[in-house]
Amino acid sequence: MQLLLASNNAKKLGELRRILDAAGLERVELLGLSAVAAYPEPRETGRTFADNALIKARAGARATGLITVADDSGLAVEELGGMPGVLSARWSGGHGDDTANNRLLLAQLRDVPEERRRCAFVSVCALVTPDGHEELSEGRWEGRLLTQPRGQNGFGYDPLFLPAEEEHRGASARSSAQLTPAEKDALSHRGKALAGLVPALRRLAD
Ligand code: IMP
Repeated sequence: MQLLLASNNAKKLGELRRILDAAGLERVELLGLSAVAAYPEPRETGRTFADNALIKARAGARATGLITVADDSGLAVEELGGMPGVLSARWSGGHGDDTANNRLLLAQLRDVPEERRRCAFVSVCALVTPDGHEELSEGRWEGRLLTQPRGQNGFGYDPLFLPAEEEHRGASARSSAQLTPAEKDALSHRGKALAGLVPALRRLAD
């Protein structure tokens, strides 16, 4: 079975591949958008991660005739009422400028003390088949927003995110950009969301 991973974000695509490879799905060939005929990128007009994940997965399945998985994700900051949320990729205006997004978020929260810097990464993954079967799976990763970027791994807001699982390490706690890829996948919102789709993917591949 061929499975389209409908993401234009190379780093996110890398994570989707890595997580599904590690899940050991048999008879599943993972394809990125570069492996299929180009189709117009749908506008992410949804108000929720689920809406946008479905928009992306439906567009992929419709254009290619392939079973498609898409992730819509972002950082929900408690002090900002859950924003940047679905606007995470374009928080500073342009789309996908991680450095500008991180700088803006840090400036907005400059005077917010540690105990009010709770946040969570959220991912909703949508699975859509060409015959109209749809499934959604959500994953959350709780943590706290740092005051300065740390680490080089991952992408997006990873250098600013201190996972709850690291907090007990005190001064040596690592941001999600300091975790190894395997450590991130084992804890992350995306790892949890995709794990929820694995049973359906196994059934489809059988
Ligand atoms: P999307 O491609 O519209 O779903 O936007 C996702 C955006 O959310 C990314 O551009 C990042 O800013 C942020 N984001 C989502 N997942 C992660 C992650 O695992 N690490 C860091 N930032 C993330």
